[in-house]
This record gives sequence, C-alpha cells and structure tokens, in this order.
Amino acid sequence: MVSQYSSALAKPRIPPHFLNTDHRQRCLAQLRSKHDGLEKYIYLSGLKERDANLFYEVLLGNMLEIIPILYTPTVGDACSNYSHIWRRPEGLYVTIGNKGHIREVLRSWPTGPASRIAVVTDGSRILGLGDLGANGLPISIGKLDLYIAGAGIKPTTTVPICLDLGTNTEKFLDDPLYIGVRRKRPGVEEMDAFMKEFMEAMREVFPSLLVQFEDFSTDNAFRYLDMFRSQYRCFNDDIQGTGAVVLSGFINAARLSSAASGRPLTEHRILFFGAGSAGVGVAKQLLSFFKLMGMSEAEARNRIYTVDSKGLITADRKGLQEHKKFFARTDYQGPPLTNLLDIIEYVKPTALLGLSTIRNAFTEDVVKLMGSLNPRPIIFPLSNPVSLCEVDYADAIRWTNGSVIFASGSPYKPVEFEGKVYEPGQGNNMYIFPGIGMGAILAKARHITDAMIEQAAIALSEALTQEEEDTGLVYPRLARIRDLSARIALTVIRAAQKDEVDENSLCRNLSDERLLDYIKAKQWQPCSMHLTNGSPYSNGVH
Ligand code: NAP
Ligand code: MN
Repeated sequence: MVSQYSSALAKPRIPPHFLNTDHRQRCLAQLRSKHDGLEKYIYLSGLKERDANLFYEVLLGNMLEIIPILYTPTVGDACSNYSHIWRRPEGLYVTIGNKGHIREVLRSWPTGPASRIAVVTDGSRILGLGDLGANGLPISIGKLDLYIAGAGIKPTTTVPICLDLGTNTEKFLDDPLYIGVRRKRPGVEEMDAFMKEFMEAMREVFPSLLVQFEDFSTDNAFRYLDMFRSQYRCFNDDIQGTGAVVLSGFINAARLSSAASGRPLTEHRILFFGAGSAGVGVAKQLLSFFKLMGMSEAEARNRIYTVDSKGLITADRKGLQEHKKFFARTDYQGPPLTNLLDIIEYVKPTALLGLSTIRNAFTEDVVKLMGSLNPRPIIFPLSNPVSLCEVDYADAIRWTNGSVIFASGSPYKPVEFEGKVYEPGQGNNMYIFPGIGMGAILAKARHITDAMIEQAAIALSEALTQEEEDTGLVYPRLARIRDLSARIALTVIRAAQKDEVDENSLCRNLSDERLLDYIKAKQWQPCSMHLTNGSPYSNGVH
C-alpha cells in the first residue's frame, strides 16, 4: 500500500504549501463535514485505501470519535447497505461454491503465510441485525481495525474474511445489487463439512494465523468454538471476549458493591436477562471465575440465573436449546416466571445483566426494586446499540439516587445528579480482544485456553489507575487502550506458558518487565509522512 502522494510528488502535483499543513486535521475536517454516519464510514474507507498510514494515524489520535463509525453502531449501517456502497475488494470471500478447493482460494490472499490474524464471519447474525449474508464483511474489517488501533497488530498481517454460504433473508436474494451467492443457507451437515475444510485449509495456508470467529448465529457460534478450539488457534469474541470484558467489570463492581453491603463475593447472585451467545458466554466466564475463587462448580452455578424471552430458564422447560441447559434452574418449583419484576423478587439478585436486545426492559420499577434490595445494585445493560439498551444511564442514576454501579455496552455521557457528576462504565469488548490477539500471536499459542481468556479479564480489572478507582470506575479509560492491551497481552502470554500451549520460547526467558517492553516494541505505529516538515515519501504500511 504505497501512498498515492509519493507518486504524485514525483510528478509535482502537490500544492506548494501542502507540506506545511497538517493533513490529519484536513482529513478530520472532511470527516466532520459529513453528517450521515454511513457517509463518514465511506469516507474513512476511502481514506484507508488512499493512505493507510494516514488513516491509522487519524484513527489513533481520535479513537473515541472514529471507533463508533468503524465499529458499532455505524458499521451496522455499513453492513446492511454493503452491497450498495461496495467500491472495491477489501477482504477475502470464501463461498459455498469454493467447497473442495478452499485452499486455493485462501492462497490468493496477497500476504500469505505472513498473515497473523483473521476475523471470520458468516454474516448470519451481524450485531443485532440478523442474517446479512455476504454483506457481513465490514464487521470483520472493523474488528481488525480495532486490533490494529488497540493493540498495534500490523495491518498487513490481518485478513478480513466473509464466508458466503447464502442468506435466508429474502430481501437480499431479491436485490439485483446483492453481492452474495443467491441461495439459502445450507443445512447443518453441509455447513459443518464446509467449516471443517475451511479451518484445515486456513492452517495449511496461514500456519501462524489466529482465527477469531465473529457474529455466527448463536447455535453455530457455540458449536464451532467447541468443535475447533482444541484443534486450532481460534476463539470467539462474541462468547469469550464478551465473557471476559463483562467479568472484568463485574469484578470491580462486586468489590464496590460488597464494600457497601458487607456481602462477600460468594454471596452475590447474578441475574442474566438474555441468554444468547453473549449472555451464556458471560455466565460461563463468571462461573469459571467463581471456581477460581474457590467455589465448587455446583456452588458457582447456583449463583447464576438466566432469563430468555420465555422467562426464567428452568430445566423442566420443553425443547430447551442446547446452550441454555447448563444454567437452567432445577430448584424453582411453581408456574413459569415470565415477568422480570417477579423474577427479581424471587432471585433477589445483587447484579442484573442485560444481554437481551430489549430497549428499556429495565423499567423504573425494575431499577428501583434492584435499589431496594441492594445498597449499591450492579446494573449492566449491555445490549448494543443504545437503541437496544435495557436502560439509559441518566434513568439508572435517578432511579437509584446515584447508588447504581453501571456499565453499558454502548457509550453514555457522564450524568449530573443532585450536584454530583457520575461517570458510567462501558463494557466494550475492545478492552479485551486486541490484547488477547496480540498475546496469542506473540506467544505463538497453539490454542486459546480458558485461562488465557480469564487472566486477560483479571488483568483488565487490575488495570485501574488510582484516579479511575477514586472516580468509582469499573473499567479503565479507553484512551489508554494501547498500554492496557500490552498488559493484557503479557498476562495472556504468561497464561499460555503455564498451560504449555506457547511455541515462542523467547518470551519464556524474559522477566515481566522485559516482556512488556518486548510487546510494546512489537506494537505497530503508523508513520504517515504528511506532517509539517515531514518527508513527503510515505512507505505505505509495513
Ligand atoms: P442473541 O443471541 O440474540 O440473544 C438475545 C437473548 O435475549 C436471547 O436469549 C433471547 O431469548 C433474549 N431475549 C429476547 N427478548 C427477550 C425478552 N423480551 N425478555 C427476555 N429475554 C429476551 O444476542 P447476543 O449475541 O447474545 O447479544 C445480546 C446483546 O448483547 C446484543 O444487543 C449485543 O449487542 C450485546 N452484546 C454486548 C457486548 C458488550 O457490551 N461488550 C458484547 C456482545 C454482545 P430467546 O433465546 O428466547 O430468543
Ligand atoms: Mn460480534
């Protein structure tokens, strides 16, 4: 990716004063002149094509402004409209028709064995938007941009992949501009055979690659994670990344809540409102943490209650989906509990976690009930985007007189209530997955073990500065993401070593301090040359 300006400069077409101006500021101004999210997305995508270094520099300097465009919420619009806004190839498509020669398709990727990380989606459950088929590619692209920005993964080592197995969304099949194959999704057997060939081919063509599964439909997300995780270097961010980031916030929230109630960690009761891949992923991560804290599996499981669209999940319910069985309650006797208030009365939770995609499900009555049961109730409405969030921050503060310990999936602004300013937490997966990716890559981990994920969560929970702690935050400030990712990567590498899945012996021989330096030295930095007095020759991205 050689900057266009270098060739332009060779034939002097650059305006005379250009090099004395800050082109980053110009790009920002151009970005801000657009008032539609999708237009901003298209602009940024074009900027990346024109000059990737400059794009990443602008991104790194303005992450809080730009991440919501490259990722949720705007990337949702980009995916929904991808067939219509498509401009040029930006990633790798592997289609159902490639079955039998997937290997050859993968070999067409320019960076070949130098590739280190792929984000792979099958487009079947993009964000909360359902089956978008071949329109899912921007989710892989966006996530990889966050790996690059957050952890300093080298852009040229990233591979965005969309598996095009068809779509069950009629609207796309009927759209003459739809870019995907025109067929319905295959059945389980055909899909499994495809996935097996795909994963085997991935390892062959990209021997050093970490695969991150993204936005597969819930059943498949769990199934492929189970099927592949002990065989390949892979993980699923929707399940494991979400689990880790919420666990991290929960650890800090439980500390604050316990300080107010005197109740030890072992006496917390966590109610999950929503039992999809995110809800169950988080519940499993919490269970594992409780076990690490000394509880038996039965004790740990007993602390957790799950609710889906039919109410409190109980083991006696007919036709329960596989992923819901583990946390289904066996101790509840009585008619099905379907109303959240009744469920809260019954469970008396210390923490209420929303992963339901149901806007305003945590009503005033619900929040007040949580407040009456706990001096400092933990309420995490984690559904994204804000339009699906279970409760707004200002309401949660008001209805609990400021006592709520709050983290949402989407960002909220600080809120002033009765003369005091309250700052919300954001349980953003971006805190965790870049560091997991970087750690797994540098350790050359053969697999991503549970301990690697769990230790990443604990490292994040321990990363609060004194100022952040004094402010009552449960997550560090996102502006520190590069440093946080390096620290998480270190912990991930150590966990890989402990589990003996690492293949980079160099890291084994370094002290923590030296290893942290090593990681930071490996973090890629953009080197745009369009700065005041800078050389006009950009070397592109290395
Ligand atoms: P999902 O697989 O669609 O799961 C949604 C769950 O909510 C299902 O169990 C569903 O029940 C349940 N639900 C739907 N309507 C309900 C109702 N009226 N009452 C109670 N439960 C209801 O989605 P997901 O992938 O798990 O994601 C859920 C949300 O989490 C999304 O909004 C996503 O943005 C968010 N998320 C946040 C983070 C983060 O903040 N870090 C990370 C990942 C995901 P049924 O099973 O009965 O359909
Ligand atoms: Mn996702």
